[in-house]
Amino acid sequence: MKPAPFIYHRAETAAHAAEVLAQFGDDVRILAGGQSLLPMMNLRIAAPGHLLDISKTADLMTIEVGVDSLEVGAAATYRRVAEHGAIEQFPIIATAISHVGHEPIRNRGTIVGSIAHNDPAGELPAVALALGAEVQLRSLRGSRSVSIDDFLTEAYCTTIADDELIEAIRFPRPAASTGHGFAEYARRRGDYASAGVACQVRYGPRRFSCRMPGRDPRRRRCGATPPGRGGAHRLRRDRWLGRRARGASHRGQRHR
Ligand SMILES: Cc1cc2nc3c(=O)[nH]c(=O)nc-3n(C[C@H](O)[C@H](O)[C@H](O)COP(=O)(O)OP(=O)(O)OC[C@H]3O[C@@H](n4cnc5c(N)ncnc54)[C@H](O)[C@@H]3O)c2cc1C
Repeated sequence: MKPAPFIYHRAETAAHAAEVLAQFGDDVRILAGGQSLLPMMNLRIAAPGHLLDISKTADLMTIEVGVDSLEVGAAATYRRVAEHGAIEQFPIIATAISHVGHEPIRNRGTIVGSIAHNDPAGELPAVALALGAEVQLRSLRGSRSVSIDDFLTEAYCTTIADDELIEAIRFPRPAASTGHGFAEYARRRGDYASAGVACQVRYGPRRFSCRMPGRDPRRRRCGATPPGRGGAHRLRRDRWLGRRARGASHRGQRHR
């Protein structure tokens, strides 16, 4: 089937895109990679009167790696992100992208388009939730940043307004004390996942880190020297005994 007639607009800049959105409201749809929108239009599930193409909008193609984040612009394709030199610093994103469809889909489709579409079987919304990403929105009214938890509501729904576009998505850099996992099951390679999971785990401070034979874990945990010898040792001993007498808890202390 062919899509219903529409008027085509190409956004020269992000500001221009915001103007077109303000002009046509809920009768305009943004076209990024078109990998979800065009099938919907062909099936007449979507029939917008205006299509706003951002796929060649230079200031939305950016991929910026900062000290504490990776920021992906709305027109950056999966492929460009996957081939970016810094992607190995964000291994969960690289793994997730490799599960998205096939190469032709990754050549055109965008991470931001996937977030906007919010297909519950999509890999990138799950990763964005696991990492605690932030969505940057823009309209003629101004810009705002929304946490992914507040942005994604139910399947295929988000809190974006009719006159807004997603300018970029910002993934925080995983802390050194985190690990991640991504796994999915699909009936055939490249299919949408039947089930999948993305997670990030933050390790807490390690307790009992020096439980080695012949050593008293309490010595390391609280940094105190057991009573016994004179001088500085006695001073520490007294402090140690004082704390014990006051019932101080050593539990929450950091290890040395
Ligand atoms: C055969 C096939 C297999 C696929 N397999 C998978 C898969 O395994 N996993 C997966 O996650 N996806 C899969 N996809 C979908 C693919 O990932 C899409 O690319 C993605 O869902 C949408 O990205 P897009 O850039 O193509 O967006 P588009 O299709 O252009 O847009 C999707 C929706 O998001 C809106 N939108 C896009 N950009 C913005 C923006 N900047 N601001 C506001 N709204 C915006 C559009 O208006 C539209 O409503 C598959 C697609 C096909 C055709």
